[in-house]
Amino acid sequence: MTQPALHDLGVAQLATELRERRVSAVEVAQHFLARAKNHQHLGAFVALNEDATLAQARAADAQLAAGTGGPLAGLPIAHKDIFVTRDFPSTAGSKMLAGYQSPFDATVVARLAQAGCVTLGKLNCDEFAMGSANENSAVAPVGFDAPAPVRNPWDTTRIPGGSSGGSAVAVAARLAPAVTGTDTGGSIRQPASFCGITGIKPTYGRASRYGMIAFASSLDQAGPMARSAEDCALLLSALCGPDPDRDSTSLDMPAEDYSRSLNDPLDGLRIGIPAEFFGEGLAPDVRAAVDGALKEYEKLGAKLVPISLPRTELSIPVYYIIAPAEASSNLSRFDGVKFGHRAKDYGDLLDMYKKTRAEGFGDEVKRRIMIGAYVLSHGYYDAYYLQAQKIRRMIADDFQSAFKECDLIAGPVAPTVAWKLGEHGSDPLADYLADIFTLPASLAGLPGMSVPAGFGEGGMPVGLQLIGNYFSEARLLNAAHRLQQATDFHLRSPL
Ligand code: GLN
Repeated sequence: MTQPALHDLGVAQLATELRERRVSAVEVAQHFLARAKNHQHLGAFVALNEDATLAQARAADAQLAAGTGGPLAGLPIAHKDIFVTRDFPSTAGSKMLAGYQSPFDATVVARLAQAGCVTLGKLNCDEFAMGSANENSAVAPVGFDAPAPVRNPWDTTRIPGGSSGGSAVAVAARLAPAVTGTDTGGSIRQPASFCGITGIKPTYGRASRYGMIAFASSLDQAGPMARSAEDCALLLSALCGPDPDRDSTSLDMPAEDYSRSLNDPLDGLRIGIPAEFFGEGLAPDVRAAVDGALKEYEKLGAKLVPISLPRTELSIPVYYIIAPAEASSNLSRFDGVKFGHRAKDYGDLLDMYKKTRAEGFGDEVKRRIMIGAYVLSHGYYDAYYLQAQKIRRMIADDFQSAFKECDLIAGPVAPTVAWKLGEHGSDPLADYLADIFTLPASLAGLPGMSVPAGFGEGGMPVGLQLIGNYFSEARLLNAAHRLQQATDFHLRSPL
């Protein structure tokens, strides 16, 4: 039998190959670096640094030889370019941070490095993680002279989803066995769904936000994306955990070993099916794939329970008030003084601020800053921001009512499969509306994941969304893993 290529191995398999020293970390790193270069046209990477990667790989090999390596020693990983990294530039997809070099690693990056991961490079994303299609990046991918779209490897005329588009593409095209992403309103789940991979956003506070360039602080959460739930479990165990000195919202709960319960039986598991996730806007091809996955769950012993999340529709206006409000505050730090871009020609200080921000931010970011400043302003705060906060609480309460009747919630990740590049033109609302099924769990701070569930129109992947109650990551991964043992959608490759 021929050996599978290194890039066809999952995280668990590759970690075993490395531990048993059938392949070295340097060989693995070289293999993936070559692959990244051969697939530059997909636009997934925005930064590579071969010397740094190989130095990390040599260090991993030394640890493996000494038997001191962490559980993921030598495993290549790539990070969404929203995490700051010492060895690679960090741009958040923005001109504002062109050339910015962080003096430290984000906690998530540091934790994965401590577990032995070797960083391959940084991955394209929407500017400051604002977007649903990865069409808002202002950074040129590796091999390009100007910003270029990230392409979905299942059909390169389509978007990969966003904002963690480069992350999803890297896994789907086998340019990395695992990557990091961030999810503020769906940015792990939606691109995972559009690219046919697995991704999990843990409970808000599970992973440290230190060194994650802030978009909307009450929503931002890091998580892993990989081919399978099994792989995500290994990464999640490594990257979670309290970070009390650096992120005051990180939870005081130790990381769990998420691999332990992957094989638990699903007998009697009550899966809630929210009526509002299966209404008019859901494309029939997506519905068919989701229904297929739900049938598999019934075969595995789960019971489907009809539930209601009555404020699902309101999650769009609520999110698009709260997220911009927080963004307008977070992005005030980019003023040309402390770091990043500064306009060349300016008069006084105010003029410097204005020119710097006019030049540095892209249209979508400016739109959000304006909306955010507006909804927070005197006279509008009560009408918009405060109202949105109240409904946010009601959305969270709706989930708690639902979890009285079920253990997990399942539905589509997005109403359609990945659309064509440029299809939404300059209509931001078309992108916002496509977030309808991911926003509710984000607003409630609940863990959610996307699991490959089949294929729809144009042969494009469809993801099943699983949402759990707070701290139920192990249960989510268990449910996803059992589905993946019964199906092979997550094993199919576009290349
Ligand atoms: N599409 C959503 C937005 O543009 C979510 C982005 C995210 O999760 N980072 O805000």
